[in-house]
Amino acid sequence: MSGADGQGARRAALLVAAVVGAALVVVLVVVPPWTLLAEPPGGPTPADPSSVLPPDVLQRAESFAAALRPASLVSLTLGLAVSAVLGLTRLGARLVRAVAAPLGGGWTAQVLLGTAAVVVVGRLATLPVSAYAEVVRHRYGLSTRGWGLWLRDVAVSTAISAVVTALALGSLLWLVRRAPRTWWAWAAAVAAGFVVVGSFLYPVVIEPAFNRFEPLPAGELRARLLDLAEENGTPVQDVLVSDASRRTTALNAYVSGFGSTRRVVLYDTTLEQLPEDAVASIVAHELGHVVHRDVLTGTLVGALGAAAAVALSGWLLSWTPLLGRAGAQSPADPAVVPLVLLLLSVGGLLSTPVQNLVSRQVEARADLRALELTGDAGAFTAMQRELAATNLSDPDPPVAWQWFFGSHPTGAQRIAFAEDWQRLEDAG
Ligand SMILES: [Zn+2]
Repeated sequence: MSGADGQGARRAALLVAAVVGAALVVVLVVVPPWTLLAEPPGGPTPADPSSVLPPDVLQRAESFAAALRPASLVSLTLGLAVSAVLGLTRLGARLVRAVAAPLGGGWTAQVLLGTAAVVVVGRLATLPVSAYAEVVRHRYGLSTRGWGLWLRDVAVSTAISAVVTALALGSLLWLVRRAPRTWWAWAAAVAAGFVVVGSFLYPVVIEPAFNRFEPLPAGELRARLLDLAEENGTPVQDVLVSDASRRTTALNAYVSGFGSTRRVVLYDTTLEQLPEDAVASIVAHELGHVVHRDVLTGTLVGALGAAAAVALSGWLLSWTPLLGRAGAQSPADPAVVPLVLLLLSVGGLLSTPVQNLVSRQVEARADLRALELTGDAGAFTAMQRELAATNLSDPDPPVAWQWFFGSHPTGAQRIAFAEDWQRLEDAG
């Protein structure tokens, strides 16, 4: 392609990234409910960690969180550092060529095996930190996995991630070869499409790779949960129990599938440990996500984000100095693979606080729905306490941590919210 054409294509990529990015910002600002409750008489209830856990458990939860937080930060930094070294020096290109050499070193082998190798190297680098985190979870009684199962889980999730990433990058670089000027436009559309398809396939393909499901036997609880779903205007086809206790003592439930495949899934741990009122409260929260179409919104946000990111990478990957650092001749050169993976990690890191800011609002809205559906702030509070105690979640993490990593309001905030709701009900 001529230099002038190349410049025009670069400008177009940047323009599209800016337009799609702006659409994303609009969706992110418009979708979440930024105010959920009127201020209750006498002002909002302060978030108080001692409203969540008794002193001894609170201390345990705080020391557990304090042991894990450095591990998460080290893992994040280490992953990024490895990615940066491979993406911004010729080491990555050398790795890509080396793993493909036994298979003849062709373009396809370099792209597919090179991608898989970079993914595996990144995982291996952070493996000791993951093992340490698992030791901590064992020490606090939160993990029930033996080391054999832990290794199997790590191997399976790394293999899935390596294969999926290799196929995605393979398709991307194939497009770059086929359409050197407009590949980013095609790739942006394909990436957005993948997000949509993935969000539909996830419960069908990924969930069963890790857990087995049995229907919840007929009885009072099953009937009550099916009724809640009806009342919510979002009937479900089944209530399933997953064998989560093979791995964890954590409590959880979720709703997956769409339309006629929609089902409620309860962790078996939830069923064993929580009174039925609290189980109903958890499920009502999940139904709150369904009625507000949070998965659909999340999918739309993900699709726009993926499209904007690909368009932006169309601009970055045609920037000669950056390609030179990675030892790549063109964006279609397999040597570009480690650089693309670095851009993905950086993009993921930068988008985390934005995603979580929106997620916290969406979670609070689901809490509100749970309170309205069950009309039972007491069961909601009991459920939050039990959840925090069993999952040993810190009800009041450092503000900066919560801002960056917090996908839900803190336990203390959720209980204060339920109290505000109750006070408004009593007043009104
Ligand atoms: Zn939720």
